[in-house]
Amino acid sequence: MILILLGPPGAGKGTQAKLLSTELGIPHISTGDMFRDHKARGTEIGKQVQAIMDAGGLVTDDITNAMVKERLSRPDVAPGFILDGYPRTVVQAEYLDGLLRSLGRSIDRALSYEVAEELVVERISGRRSCPRCGAVYHVSANPPKRAGYCDRDDAELVQREDDKPENVRKRMQEYGTKTEPLKRYYRDRGELAEVEGVGTPEGILAATKKVLGR
Ligand SMILES: [Zn+2]
Repeated sequence: MILILLGPPGAGKGTQAKLLSTELGIPHISTGDMFRDHKARGTEIGKQVQAIMDAGGLVTDDITNAMVKERLSRPDVAPGFILDGYPRTVVQAEYLDGLLRSLGRSIDRALSYEVAEELVVERISGRRSCPRCGAVYHVSANPPKRAGYCDRDDAELVQREDDKPENVRKRMQEYGTKTEPLKRYYRDRGELAEVEGVGTPEGILAATKKVLGR
């Protein structure tokens, strides 16, 4: 089974990808992991990505596509795989379709996790992290024993700039603008399935399996 996962930041897409990977016995392929892997191995792609990031630029479609192509040439993807964070654009989606066609394969489903903006704002803006040890908390879902302070080392917790409500809203809007054409692309091909990204990870997994008919 070949799945593509779409969803705004904070929709729990990464968690679902891991759960589905275990459930279906197929690898979870995320762009973040691929970048880190290439950097760690010091490959040509890894060096290019590092140079772009050092310069504060965006990794191009060509580099990302090349990385995906290499990843999909490995034997562990034979039973299927889950793509998380790719494709991000219609250009990438078209590339992926061509690549899969050349391998005699095709996508089963593009799963789009839907979640209301206010809920995402609440989830993300509640995050607090420890500047000393990196521990992550949530003011309501996973609070520290003493409000505002790390359980491990008592350091004062901070909110990342990215996690502030106004910035979360901005990211959600950017996400919507960028992803709408991608959703249309998969909808037109009858491959899009929308899943309510609300509730516990187990509940969302159950909803996903239902959509997949499993
Ligand atoms: Zn700490």
